[in-house]
Amino acid sequence: MTDLRFRGAVAPLRRAPAQDLPRDVAGLVAALRPEAPLHCLRPATVAGAAESFLAAFPGTVMYAVKCNPEPAMLRALWAGGVRHFDCASAGEVRLVRTMFPEAEIHFMHPVKARGAIREAHGAHGVRDFVLDSRAELDKILAETGGRGLNLIIRLGLPKGNATYDLSGKFGAEPAEAAALLRAARPHAGRLGVSFHVGSQCLDPGAYARAIALAAEVIRDAGVAVEVLDVGGGFPVAYPDVVPPPLSAFMAAIRTAFAAAALPGVELWAEPGRALVAGGASVVVQVQARRDGMLFINDGVYGALSDAGVPGFRFPVKLIRPGSASTVETVPFSFFGPTCDTADRMEGPFLLPADVAEGDWIEIGQLGAYGACLRTAFNGFDRAGMVEVADAPLLHTPGYGRVALAA
Ligand SMILES: *Cc1c(COP(=O)(O)O)cnc(C)c1O
Repeated sequence: MTDLRFRGAVAPLRRAPAQDLPRDVAGLVAALRPEAPLHCLRPATVAGAAESFLAAFPGTVMYAVKCNPEPAMLRALWAGGVRHFDCASAGEVRLVRTMFPEAEIHFMHPVKARGAIREAHGAHGVRDFVLDSRAELDKILAETGGRGLNLIIRLGLPKGNATYDLSGKFGAEPAEAAALLRAARPHAGRLGVSFHVGSQCLDPGAYARAIALAAEVIRDAGVAVEVLDVGGGFPVAYPDVVPPPLSAFMAAIRTAFAAAALPGVELWAEPGRALVAGGASVVVQVQARRDGMLFINDGVYGALSDAGVPGFRFPVKLIRPGSASTVETVPFSFFGPTCDTADRMEGPFLLPADVAEGDWIEIGQLGAYGACLRTAFNGFDRAGMVEVADAPLLHTPGYGRVALAA
């Protein structure tokens, strides 16, 4: 059992005792017959994705912890070579420092609590802080005494076409960003520019355009800059989405960075989803069927938030111990266990036409923004966790050693 609470009163994922359990999802379901959602972690898939990204990216790779802070997930990333962590809160900083005394921690939230800055800098050795306003610069200087800082200016981007657009909340306008670079320069050992193109960004050109804009800002500022942080947003596959391969994003970044001609500047990236999405799935149980509606034991207040309003279609697979279904697949929508009518997931999710109450369904690509969004709403706060070694339901081109599941 893990000892971390992700949010409010939600119970931590409850680890099944490891001894003598099968290492594949179907075998585990047959052995455990779980009535609560069962999170299945694939540490080898996560380590493989991390290795691929680290090998492909021409610079420093930090993992965006918010995406999945589960300790077993962080250990898998560490095994895959990740040594840098993008944290956004005192809680994340504490978690990473406790688990990995040697980790490099970067505080990449542009608006921070004063106490969080003090704790990160004073107790956990964090030196890298992001900001997008003069007020935040003053705050960071006041809370750290200005000692040993590296400062990164978060640049806002025009609205793009990422699945999750992040342009509306953080980031300084280009002229303001240039002014902040000048203001921060005297206080920074290393100075940088960062941006975030938005999550699940399917367009390699978005990184190229953002790099060109950042280069303009750096030239306007007229001061030396040492870091260009291209953020996260790298996409993974979903049933209706085959993203361009990782190599296309890396080529766009390399080409734009070369064209920007920024001598002495080092690249950083902050991937979240791309490293962990394929590394966990959730097994749910069908509690009722009404025609094409399946009432299941997890939903938008649990690990399936992105299947709700954001409308993600996740890969699914029927699990019925002892008897395989051979009938054709038809579309279903899912309904979560809470009483809220908003607790529904349109899908469509393609499953054998004879799905029935008591069946289990494995839902894949939930290593990112799944477990970390669970709540205790309506008392549905329990979920289990196991580690498995079989292939995930979907494979994203360019990531890892793991082949597509049969
Ligand atoms: C959420 C976030 C990330 C990770 O984004 P992904 O789309 O999961 O790769 C990286 N950097 C910042 C600043 C973020 O807010």
